[in-house]
Amino acid sequence: MTSRPCVRVPSLSLLWLEELRAEGVQALLLDLDNTLCDPRGDSPTEEAAAFCVRMEEAGMRGYILTNGRGDRAERLAQRLGLPCIARAHKPLPGAYRRALRDLDLPKEAVAAVGDQFFTDGLGAMYVGIRLVLVEPRFPRDKPLVRLLSPLDRILRRLIPER
Ligand SMILES: [Mg+2]
Repeated sequence: MTSRPCVRVPSLSLLWLEELRAEGVQALLLDLDNTLCDPRGDSPTEEAAAFCVRMEEAGMRGYILTNGRGDRAERLAQRLGLPCIARAHKPLPGAYRRALRDLDLPKEAVAAVGDQFFTDGLGAMYVGIRLVLVEPRFPRDKPLVRLLSPLDRILRRLIPER
């Protein structure tokens, strides 16, 4: 591994997939709300759909981990053609470990991608997997996320920008 274990990047479209793949990353554990879709919407963003195509082209698998509801998450994951764990209780490690088992990959072979420091960031750090923190795509999110967002904005600056 040559690049840093935690980085920030402005958007999914700027994520350097080929480089990560060359460094041995075979799968991405993807956050759903505000990373791949509007938290109030029912379809993935165009950017997310394009990202999934790029991921496949780079020879990487994707796996959605979301703290959101199961039925909506399943629908969205299906539209993107990705497996999904809903109600993942990030940053707790259970869902991360389940996803690693499911993918049959060691933690060194995956990276987490998400928009929130407190869930996606701490979860990845706790489990010891690489983290790519993206900027939230939409101004609104779940009430708890909104409540923590001023602090989240401060803490995410601790993570170096790529
Ligand atoms: Mg999110």
